[in-house]
Amino acid sequence: MNKSSSRIQVQSKVLETAYPNATKNVVAFEESIRKNSFETIAVFDKEGNILLQNSGNEKGAAVPITVNIENGIFTHNHPTLPEDGRYGRIGTSFSDIDIYHAIKFNQAEVRVVTETSTFSMKRPNSGWNVSANEFQSAYNSENKIVTDDLLNRLRYKKTTYDKIIVTIDHKIMKNLSKKYVWEYSKMKTS
Ligand SMILES: [Zn+2]
Repeated sequence: MNKSSSRIQVQSKVLETAYPNATKNVVAFEESIRKNSFETIAVFDKEGNILLQNSGNEKGAAVPITVNIENGIFTHNHPTLPEDGRYGRIGTSFSDIDIYHAIKFNQAEVRVVTETSTFSMKRPNSGWNVSANEFQSAYNSENKIVTDDLLNRLRYKKTTYDKIIVTIDHKIMKNLSKKYVWEYSKMKTS
């Protein structure tokens, strides 16, 4: 085997961050946590320096805010839970708390990685366009609309419970990102 053919590498797809100089470090960090059974969260600055980091259990992690994290990139993983069903590796999109904190601390971007996917919500140039509290009430209404719709489809066998688990948060985020003109993306990255 010659040298070039022995150096074949499988490159996974990269979902760019809000800051070109930060992407390499953020993505390397995300690759190191995406398959963990516990949650780790971190905030990066424009240049990809890590400002804060902490790990918790499978349900979440908290981190004391000791430095200025405004305009940072907040990222973390959503572990696959045993009850997540047959599409569990795809995982779930953002929770209301993820977005609430991104708005409250005026983050440039919030990201979440699962075993196979990366989700990103980027703040537009005009800002988040909503207060954290207003967002929370909009989320609660949207959550009710999407949940009712999916349960209705389940009743008529147009979807399955396993599918609902991995689509519900994604649908809510899609609708809210449209409402507030946020840049939302989901990519299969692993
Ligand atoms: Zn989260």
